[in-house]
Amino acid sequence: MRILIVEDETKTANYLKKGLIEHGFTVDVAINGEDGLHLAQTESYDMIVLDVMLPERSGWSVIETLRRGGNDVPVIFLSARDGVHDRVHGLELGADDYLVKPFAFSELLARIRIILRRHYQLQPEKMCLEELELDMARHKAWRSGVALDLTAKEFQLLALMLRRKGEVLTRTTISEQVWGINFDTDTNIVDVAIRRLRKKIDDPFPRKLIRTIRGVGYLLDEASE
Ligand code: CA
Repeated sequence: MRILIVEDETKTANYLKKGLIEHGFTVDVAINGEDGLHLAQTESYDMIVLDVMLPERSGWSVIETLRRGGNDVPVIFLSARDGVHDRVHGLELGADDYLVKPFAFSELLARIRIILRRHYQLQPEKMCLEELELDMARHKAWRSGVALDLTAKEFQLLALMLRRKGEVLTRTTISEQVWGINFDTDTNIVDVAIRRLRKKIDDPFPRKLIRTIRGVGYLLDEASE
């Protein structure tokens, strides 16, 4: 994931850049609004972290220009302006979130992740792993070209695992992401759903993609030989 930081305070910009790189993001920095807008229009970013008070062009003007041009890249404002009217104005201009300085990096990171998840989940896309394919726009899935008959929840579960392939997902994460709630740890709804999904996507095929990580959760990844 590639993030653009538009921030004129060098110290803040460097701190953000360092933190985001440490968490696996690719980061570019612009130190004024004009350069920020230019980069946002000519490069492709998954997200922009945007200051409001910037030299040459304000953050308000940057997002306004982007949105008017049909660019819907997720934007989070990061500003010392903490008035309710500022926050409302930022959101009304089309920002996805607004965080007031000073901020905790962990909070910024959590908000960035939420926005990215929400935004890219809604985008029509195709995802695949080995011979497993998911068409997010049409809600259809295939393995080795055979259409899989999945319920809506099974599709969501598979999409979550595929989006985060190679990552162990805990039952809590799965229940929050797929059902929107955190089930009591003693319910086995996640395990039951995984079992049903396995029956459809793994049982008929020699190579198994879903793995159980005992005591932790589940993981979808390339089949090990
Ligand atoms: Ca500033």
